[in-house]
Amino acid sequence: MAADVLGIIGFAVGVVALLLAVTVTRRIGQRDPLNVPHFWRRALVIRPPAMDSTDEPLGALTRNQRLAFIANPTKAGVSHVREQAMRACAIRYLPQPMWFYTTEDDPGTGQARQALEQGADVVVAVGGDGTVRAVAEVMANSDRIMGILPMGTGNLFARNLDVPLNDIPSALRTVIEGEDRAVDVGWIDIERAHPSHGENGTHIFLVIAGVGLDAEMVAGADDRLKRRLGWFAYFFAAAAHMRGKRMGATVTVDDAKPVKSEMRTVLMANVGRLPGGIQLIPDASVSDGKLDVATLDARGGIVGWTELFGTVIAQGAGITEPWLPRLLRTSRIDHVRGKEIVVDLASPQKIQIDGESAGRAGKIRGRVDHGALTVRVPPKPAEKPDKASKASASDPADVPEDGNHEI
Ligand SMILES: [Mg+2]
Repeated sequence: MAADVLGIIGFAVGVVALLLAVTVTRRIGQRDPLNVPHFWRRALVIRPPAMDSTDEPLGALTRNQRLAFIANPTKAGVSHVREQAMRACAIRYLPQPMWFYTTEDDPGTGQARQALEQGADVVVAVGGDGTVRAVAEVMANSDRIMGILPMGTGNLFARNLDVPLNDIPSALRTVIEGEDRAVDVGWIDIERAHPSHGENGTHIFLVIAGVGLDAEMVAGADDRLKRRLGWFAYFFAAAAHMRGKRMGATVTVDDAKPVKSEMRTVLMANVGRLPGGIQLIPDASVSDGKLDVATLDARGGIVGWTELFGTVIAQGAGITEPWLPRLLRTSRIDHVRGKEIVVDLASPQKIQIDGESAGRAGKIRGRVDHGALTVRVPPKPAEKPDKASKASASDPADVPEDGNHEI
């Protein structure tokens, strides 16, 4: 008798467990079909939700776009990202994306060109700022869209466009379902002072191109330190160049009169936000059709440097009038906005483009290419009416005009 009761209870528990397992498997399968083996998908009649569901806006994915990913294979975890990308496309019934790897000889331009030739609608750079720049060089002035899966140390361009960092699933969602935004890019013409310094050429920059100390810092930053500390490694590198000579340069912005002066560095910025909440160039906008030019100068050894870095950090904190004592006026930042900047150097100086060394130059010319690149970015939060009305209800003066939001 007792054995019969136990048997019945056991059977009931078994049936419940089986039903539970089927329900859970079906639910998982509907959300992400690739998580359930093909046999079980067929046996349990698992079908993903209908495409024409009106409850959830499908956004960009209804365009049936063809994606291409251009990945830097040296980044850790890139094969896992590939799986995630394939799955993200599969569950949205998008065509299987193309996948290219960059090489040492070709950091992404050749692959991006190939992707466009093969009909990619969205070309996604998977890597750091170097890969992003190489892909952008091809995508600028094309009629196609660029996406970013940030996997670098700085990820400066992605950061400035609010692309999710350290969160591949969110970045993938942005790439597939985000909004398209036209942004400016910069081009820099490099004129070498001497043939042994390399070839003349034109390069794209998305973040900041700089000459002088800024480039010395980039060249001097230790790779291991860079991996560990990110952008702050550059500040450590700066220490090694504090006693260096200042450089003489003639700077011409648009049609203004050329200015001849001595300085530490000239920066041309397409964006202004750097890691750690630091804004080297406040208010720089990525879509205003202008580059922000800053010349930085510091004298008097360590005092001047401390003040200069203090000024940069103060600007990041929104303090335009630096709090440091004005008695020792040893550093200054001059800031101007323009479409074209020519820097004629008295002696050849190191150049950096988006954090990569580009050798020495005798003369550089930077110019903005307004709205040349269309990038897929996260949808604006204004879509949520509750939040938007709350924000406008509070003091509108609190909201900065552009680029000054918290990271
Ligand atoms: Mg700008």
